[in-house]
Amino acid sequence: MHDNINIQHAAASNSASSGIPPSPPISDEIIIQTKKLNKSFGDKQVLKDIDFEVRKGEVVALIGPSGSGKSTLIRCLNALEKADSGDIYIHGQKLNPHLSVKQLSPIRRELGMVFQHFNLFPHMTVLQNVIAAPLLVRKMSRDEAIALGESLLAKVGLLDKRDTYPSRLSGGQKQRVAIARALAMQPQALLFDEPTSALDPELVGEVLRVMKDLAYEGRTMIVVTHEMFFARDVSDRVVFMDSGSIIEQGDPEELFRAPKQKRTQAFLERMLAHLTLA
Ligand code: ADP
Ligand code: MG
Repeated sequence: MHDNINIQHAAASNSASSGIPPSPPISDEIIIQTKKLNKSFGDKQVLKDIDFEVRKGEVVALIGPSGSGKSTLIRCLNALEKADSGDIYIHGQKLNPHLSVKQLSPIRRELGMVFQHFNLFPHMTVLQNVIAAPLLVRKMSRDEAIALGESLLAKVGLLDKRDTYPSRLSGGQKQRVAIARALAMQPQALLFDEPTSALDPELVGEVLRVMKDLAYEGRTMIVVTHEMFFARDVSDRVVFMDSGSIIEQGDPEELFRAPKQKRTQAFLERMLAHLTLA
């Protein structure tokens, strides 16, 4: 497991190389923690004794081959899947498998989810999509929700699309709305599961730019991604998973330059070969 000094060093070296001001330091406060998490589908074990933690302000890139268990891990954190054994703590609260949907709700609200497919409500405008949950779940006043929604749309560069319906937006714009919608619940952490994988290549950059801004603002984020440059340049820590286990994790620059495990080396070689061909 990483100690805090290394993580801060990683954040500092990232920004030094990219000329971007250093992001706020990572605190000791643990936002997400799993202990010996196990999950099987039928007789296939998909998560094997996963010990994982994310601190406040930390950006963790979760990488690994398709089928390695990345989505299952993210889905367990948000109680979309139930682990078979092990413990999950979200901001200190235990995700007890016996909790009712109602009891789970305040814990799940701590995490904002952004998926590959944006799942916007087609019958609502962009602004309505962003403020629906704050109005319903957070019981925010309408004026307050609109002000928040507009500020978040400005943040993702889409204030001019406020009254547009999702069907009129490009994939990149839809995903930026989905990010604004996740932020509107003011979550402790944002969980992204391959947010750019469904996008046409020319639309990937605009979404990654928004995510990069959030990272440099000091947001706590887990990003499952195949965007290796994003993982290397923006995250504070890279976690490599294969066959349901965390094989290796650490400083992004170090892990990409000199992966210690054979499986990490093989995966990165495949990913980088693919990049140079593209
Ligand atoms: P990744 O996100 O790394 O591609 P997943 O977590 O989606 O991996 O999947 C891990 C393994 O679990 C895969 O073999 C996948 O087929 C299997 N799996 C995922 N979800 C289910 C499900 N609901 N039912 C059965 N098998 C599943
Ligand atoms: Mg997945």
